[in-house]
Amino acid sequence: MLRSTKIVATLGPASSEPEVLERMVRAGVDVVRLNFSHGTAADHLKRAELVKDIGRKTGHTVAIMCDLQGPKIRVGKFKDGKVLLEKGQSFVLDAACELGDQGRAGLDYKELPRDVDTGAVLLLDDGKIVLDVTAVRGDEVQTRVRHGGVLSDNKGINRQGGGLTAAALTPKDMEDIRTAAKIKADYLAVSFPKSGADMYMARELQRAAGGKAMLIAKIERAESVKQEALLDIMGACDGIMVARGDLAVEVGDAAVPAMQKRMIRLAREQNKLTITATQMMESMIASPVPTRAEVSDVANAVLDGTDAVMLSAESASGKYPVETIEAMDRICVEAEQTQAISLDQDFLNRVFKRVDQSIAMAGLFTAFHLKVKAIATLTESGSTALWMSRLNCGVPIYALTSQTQTRYRCALLRDVYPLMVKYVGHDREELLREAENVLVENGVVKEGDLIVITIGEPIGKAGGTNTMKIVRVGDHRKG
Ligand code: PGA
Ligand code: MN
Repeated sequence: MLRSTKIVATLGPASSEPEVLERMVRAGVDVVRLNFSHGTAADHLKRAELVKDIGRKTGHTVAIMCDLQGPKIRVGKFKDGKVLLEKGQSFVLDAACELGDQGRAGLDYKELPRDVDTGAVLLLDDGKIVLDVTAVRGDEVQTRVRHGGVLSDNKGINRQGGGLTAAALTPKDMEDIRTAAKIKADYLAVSFPKSGADMYMARELQRAAGGKAMLIAKIERAESVKQEALLDIMGACDGIMVARGDLAVEVGDAAVPAMQKRMIRLAREQNKLTITATQMMESMIASPVPTRAEVSDVANAVLDGTDAVMLSAESASGKYPVETIEAMDRICVEAEQTQAISLDQDFLNRVFKRVDQSIAMAGLFTAFHLKVKAIATLTESGSTALWMSRLNCGVPIYALTSQTQTRYRCALLRDVYPLMVKYVGHDREELLREAENVLVENGVVKEGDLIVITIGEPIGKAGGTNTMKIVRVGDHRKG
């Protein structure tokens, strides 16, 4: 059964062995995520090579996403690696402290004392520890422990409600953008962007480094979920990640589900892609089966219309990376079967002015009403496939391209399956037949099936799609 929703899997120690990674790919990974919060540039380069080898070996389209660490604010290291914080005790976050102890911790972000005031609430280690700020003096943020627990080296700090001023791109990120360019990453995820300007900066740095990745903005700050900021960010990126880990800490966990729905809806309207991330199959880090709640979470993200669901620790450091992907695959396929398709309604709200976009919409509408077997869109940039995939039509969209880069750019798009075409000639009839042949050879359609094909004419001239043709497979042979 064809799966519409794509699976992103983070690589780590649990998925570094070639055999394991190959089994993960065969189980259905569409995009691997290299998490630059861990490991060295050399580690990531090596992993990327392995992914490309396995892609060649299996014939699967496996794209690569590099995920920048961003300005995650962390406590420093402790003398004993960790401390136990008791409820009610006082604890100081001290920008001048080198090595922490029971009473204080160092900070990698020296501006924190300037960013917080008395009364602020700081959440450490994804909210497991809560500190109330009682005073700020010089380099010191003095706090009282509201929820205690074990605090170990380099755990993250978030401020409830957001408002930390750290720039989105750190010197390490700038270096990592160069590594991502070397890897020829297909997607580059930017952590903690606050505005479109942060995304433009990333795009500029990537351009200077020679990278061509599509930019994914991780929405994980309280500031960035506000409608205006979100639209500004979306205008400057190719897609967003609903980064529920940090987001839940900043806005409160209960606010996240509604935000996820709103973000996915808005992204689809804006022709952007979406990844739903964090803790989707969390219990499968240690268990071979997901919980009922996790099954529902993945299914609901599919019903929300996400392009992809993402695995973090489950595939990076869990015990069951392959089983997790198999489970996710199964849940997505089943959820897709039950989704309501309301293309007619969705169409009424669609606004488009461009010729190529109009053909994309016409192709989709026709495919839906004629109940064709497949859509074939001959696309050099992938745009037609992107536009078509923003509405739910129930017909698979085959993106036929001669550009390797486009093949991988389509890997994350819901309902879209990239296939390579070798044809580079100028003959229209030949090109249409080639499109048909590729679908037949790949077992997508057989003689007598209807397909919708979109192309740009004149053939061979770069530029937009302007033609749609409805073809019955094999008819051209009957002359
Ligand atoms: P991270 O991003 O795993 O890089 O923190 C995802 C999230 O915050 O949910
Ligand atoms: Mn995050």
